Amino acid sequence: MTAERERSVVEAVPKGLFIGGNWRDAGGNATLSVEDPSTGTTLCDVADATPDDAIAALDAAAGAQQSWAETAPRERGEILRGVFDLMNERADDLALLMTLEMGKPLAEAKGEVSYAAEFFRWFSEEAVRIDGRWSVNPAGSGRLLTMKHPVGPCLLITPWNFPIAMGTRKIGPAIAAGCTMVVKPAQQTPLSMLLLASLLQEAGLPDGVLNVVTASSASKVSAPLFDDARLRKVSFTGSTPVGKKLMEQASQHLLRMSMELGGNAPYLVFGDADLDHAVDQAVIAKMRNIGESCVAANRFHVHESVADEFASRLAERLGGMKVGRGTDDGVEVGPLIDDDQRSKVAELVDDAVGKGAKVLTGGEKVGDRGYFYAPTVLAGIPDDATLLREEIFGPVAPVKTFSTDREAIDAANDSEFGLVAYVFTRDLQRAIRVMEGLEVGMVGLNRGLVSNPAAPFGGVKESGFGREGGAEGIEEYLYTKYVAVDL
Ligand code: NAP
Repeated sequence: MTAERERSVVEAVPKGLFIGGNWRDAGGNATLSVEDPSTGTTLCDVADATPDDAIAALDAAAGAQQSWAETAPRERGEILRGVFDLMNERADDLALLMTLEMGKPLAEAKGEVSYAAEFFRWFSEEAVRIDGRWSVNPAGSGRLLTMKHPVGPCLLITPWNFPIAMGTRKIGPAIAAGCTMVVKPAQQTPLSMLLLASLLQEAGLPDGVLNVVTASSASKVSAPLFDDARLRKVSFTGSTPVGKKLMEQASQHLLRMSMELGGNAPYLVFGDADLDHAVDQAVIAKMRNIGESCVAANRFHVHESVADEFASRLAERLGGMKVGRGTDDGVEVGPLIDDDQRSKVAELVDDAVGKGAKVLTGGEKVGDRGYFYAPTVLAGIPDDATLLREEIFGPVAPVKTFSTDREAIDAANDSEFGLVAYVFTRDLQRAIRVMEGLEVGMVGLNRGLVSNPAAPFGGVKESGFGREGGAEGIEEYLYTKYVAVDL
């Protein structure tokens, strides 16, 4: 990858706010810097929105709402299908931008672009399947009619870890359902979203349907939107503490909410599991996205009969992974997003080691430039290690043993989070018992990856509520109206 190619892809991205179909500067011309986490250097500056800019974005969304809701579903679907094609045509640019601003290896960034685009294809097909019900009143006289309507203007807030996919799985169903929106991407990774917005414009999305505000203070631009009764829904992907704050703010106008929050995924390996396969999948479940994923395996609970073998094989695999800048050939592990995140990972490892855990590989920062941390496997994890309870969000795999199925299920559920769990066993009855006993929104059965645009993604407990993707995804953007028909 040449420096010239990197410069040209960054230069080509519009850096303004996207409001009402226009690209414009922020009020007061303020800007914020976007950093390359592999070097700590500035890539470029983008507009830093004011609260008034955010209200202007909501003005545009509210102004476009009625005509967008009345636009034929097929037309809404065709636009989504058009962006799906454009994303695939521009996949190399989108992926490179994402690698530059977020750090993930280029091959993974390409994977995310393809995954993200699939949400648009999926929801292009769902746009024409919004239906209602017609039934006979049980008493015989009268009929019951239900119909679906778009909820109205939405605020979509996305995190930095999957800068495009976390956007498309909200934007896709919102467009399909006939909702307009204000999108607030994470300040660390705005470039991918800005390029995506320009592709949506190119695909013919009418002005005002999608508006993007980039800002250095998320709370300053979102607070006035929560105060404005024209906003009807918030879909948030991010950390649980921020999600809780937003729920309080949403109570003012009783907004519809979807909350995709933090995780603490248990990865259960039973004694009868295919160990080769469990290790292969563990590498994916742990190391995809440098471990900075809400569905990353956070703690490995392994039956005592195979735990040592599993841990040493996993350590061999993770220890052999190439760490480096995501644009370099063969790199499998990029930098963490910033120094704070790397320090948090280091603290969690130090805490576990201080309490008696053993480092099988890694356990240290890498290099003196950028925010790299070595892929790490820890064994002999004590019960009071903080990383069993907190989301690590980094390339660290703690391995703990269990002896009975009951113990494994209880350990898996011993968390305030409930997003996903992974289960490895060849025993069908055990698989069913364990799946039924887990307090989570998703299970990977002999699979380390569950994400799929055709499936309902989401959690329970403090991992949030609402589902993205699948047939359920569009329901988050629709409300049901019931009509009592006299007959
Ligand atoms: P975060 O700090 O909660 O930020 C997420 C988004 O919320 C960013 O756009 C952020 O803006 C914005 N934000 C922060 N404070 C806000 C406030 N007071 N009002 C309005 N918006 C606010 O989370 P993160 O560190 O970016 O992302 C990591 C978290 O996301 C992890 O916990 C991960 O598990 C979770 N996640 C969940 C899923 C899922 O589907 N369940 C998927 C991916 C990630 P700024 O960038 O300006 O701070």
